[in-house]
Amino acid sequence: MSQPTANFIEKQPNNITDNVSDSLRWPISQIQILLDLPFNDLIYRAQTTHRQFHVANEIQLSTLISVKTGGCPEDCGYCPQAARYHTGVDNQAMLSLETVVTAAKAAKDQGATRFCMGAAWRGPKQRDIDEVTGMISAVKALGLETCATLGMLKPGQAEQLSMAGLDYYNHNLDTAPEIYSEIITTRDYQDRLDTLEEVRNAGINVCCGGIVGMGESRHARAGLIAQLANLDPYPESVPINHLVQVEGTPLYGTAVLDPLEFVRTIAAARITMPKAMVRLSAGRREMSESVQALCFLAGANSIFYGDKLLTTGNPETEQDHALFEKLGLRSR
Ligand code: SF4
Repeated sequence: MSQPTANFIEKQPNNITDNVSDSLRWPISQIQILLDLPFNDLIYRAQTTHRQFHVANEIQLSTLISVKTGGCPEDCGYCPQAARYHTGVDNQAMLSLETVVTAAKAAKDQGATRFCMGAAWRGPKQRDIDEVTGMISAVKALGLETCATLGMLKPGQAEQLSMAGLDYYNHNLDTAPEIYSEIITTRDYQDRLDTLEEVRNAGINVCCGGIVGMGESRHARAGLIAQLANLDPYPESVPINHLVQVEGTPLYGTAVLDPLEFVRTIAAARITMPKAMVRLSAGRREMSESVQALCFLAGANSIFYGDKLLTTGNPETEQDHALFEKLGLRSR
């Protein structure tokens, strides 16, 4: 296939359609064309889009805490918290409100503006919602934005979270629908979409992205981005995770993705969801500074910040500050 030209980039409108799915804002075929662009053309377009919609060189910092760890009944093939895999993760019951508030204060003192609370559940029970809503209200009272990732929500639960002051709910689509069942069998794609609808209807901002490097093709990455970009409206926050391979999980030993493919995925997310915060999420610790810099150039403008991401490591905060200094980035 011949490569699209730079001329193509300037002339191609965002709403071009193909004959397969002409009702979509972003048909997969068009995202595939983006991903196939010469690298420099893709990054140029992504950075140009980025500067039209965001303050250049500004990165939002989120801190993530696991409020309940391990023992999850789901079978996500990438996750060390699934009870059925032997990964050495220590189960931890629900943290106390005091512990969460102390962690949130520390995150704020270190410069985070958003505090995300994650729990390893298929979905929360009512007593879980009661506890988490207390945490949300307390974190919100500190002047932080709040985010939660608690699994699938039943009708009415999103409203309770919203009333407690939840700003964002994270629920990732993980990958393209065509290969979802190869990664997870205990729920299906529609379950994910249903929870996203609950969140949207409750007036909570949607944080939704996926994981790359799970052995998927470039076409499947285009499929993931298409799913996200065609949500109406598309998510306010789009975490793009790189698989962290954890021994004991089914995806351990997957062929490692070329880092430039990861950067291309970030760029496609930026171009197709121009107003979203695109978050460089899991897998950052395994990336060189150069790859992280390319991700920022491709339009990533949010990171998880802090020493730990649920159960896997994250770059030390000092390293992040040093990298920001080197790149002339400012946090917010
Ligand atoms: S990703 Fe979430 S739902 Fe899946 S096994 Fe891990 S904790 Fe459970």
